[in-house]
Amino acid sequence: MNHRMKTTCDFCKTEYTIDGVPNAPVKCAVCGNTWVVPRAPRTRPWLVFIAALCALLAAIVFAVAVIAQNKITEIRENPLIAEIGEITTMTDENGIMHFVVNGRIVNRSDQIYGVPGLIVESYEHDGDVVDRQHFMPPATLLDAGASVDFTHVLSVPVAGVEKISVKLENGGK
Ligand SMILES: [Zn+2]
Repeated sequence: MNHRMKTTCDFCKTEYTIDGVPNAPVKCAVCGNTWVVPRAPRTRPWLVFIAALCALLAAIVFAVAVIAQNKITEIRENPLIAEIGEITTMTDENGIMHFVVNGRIVNRSDQIYGVPGLIVESYEHDGDVVDRQHFMPPATLLDAGASVDFTHVLSVPVAGVEKISVKLENGGK
């Protein structure tokens, strides 16, 4: 495939525009000098490198965009999350030990949300739910990006509880 290029008479410096590299030496119309137009390298290594770098950067930007989009979608679906922090114990007036679940509810969105109730589930060794308790966390509204701590004492005794999970009502996580 031909593409227009320039060549210069190396004697009188007259410049000519030609369609691609000729197979034979060219003769200058001004001075009669003949010269061989050098064949240009097909691709320059640094161009290949820059092209590869651009492709890589584009791929990275695309991946980041996809991750960001997934994150946005995930936050939109579940703007609030409940996290368990420390689990401690307390002993009631009858000398029975109970787990105390400390955690927080985080509003990951950029909007104000009403705080739903929390469901604390306790599981036995075999994975069965031994207890499911609903309670209301302290805040009723959570500002964008804000969080509220909660503390909840399980009504079931420590014995027999293997695992504890906290989830938000309304299907939140
Ligand atoms: Zn010439």
